[in-house]
Amino acid sequence: MDLREYIRSIPDFPKPGILFRDITPLLSNPEAFGYAIDEFKHTFAPTRPTAILAAESRGFLFGAPLALALGAAFIPVRKPGKLPYKTRKFSYDLEYGSDSLEIHVDAVGQGSRVLLIDDLLATGGTIEACAKLAQEAGAEVVGCGFVVELSFLDGRKKLGNYPIKSLITYD
Ligand code: AMP
Repeated sequence: MDLREYIRSIPDFPKPGILFRDITPLLSNPEAFGYAIDEFKHTFAPTRPTAILAAESRGFLFGAPLALALGAAFIPVRKPGKLPYKTRKFSYDLEYGSDSLEIHVDAVGQGSRVLLIDDLLATGGTIEACAKLAQEAGAEVVGCGFVVELSFLDGRKKLGNYPIKSLITYD
């Protein structure tokens, strides 16, 4: 299945110069959505993840069903001030802007095998923040999965030596 057919490209959103890759057509097609989750499942099952970390909000859409499919914990990574319990925080740069992300202090720790999932890899700032949050908690990152990768932004350079899978790549 060619998942590209389910990505809509919107010029100048959310600001001039950004070509926004919209995944909502993929989400609205159960066959395509299921195919994407299955691809991640088959790629990452051998890495035996115990937890899936995904950043709000579009990361949740893929991270949560994958966590169930793999029998792993789902750990939400959120913007500051959203999580109710004690948190650890990491700041990062975005393709458009900058921000911080948080996880609960007890979400992952030593012995956790963490798989990072997001809808899209651009500069890599978001996923690097997720990796740092996991590693600073004592967890091991075992892989990284994206529905879309913008390879010309070199986000992979920010990632470590673990399997990285992008379902669609734009050069
Ligand atoms: P980055 O931290 O630069 O890798 O940016 C990745 C995050 O920003 C992802 O969670 C995406 O949801 C969002 N994002 C960045 N650039 C785009 C884009 N061109 N189209 C859609 N989402 C994007």
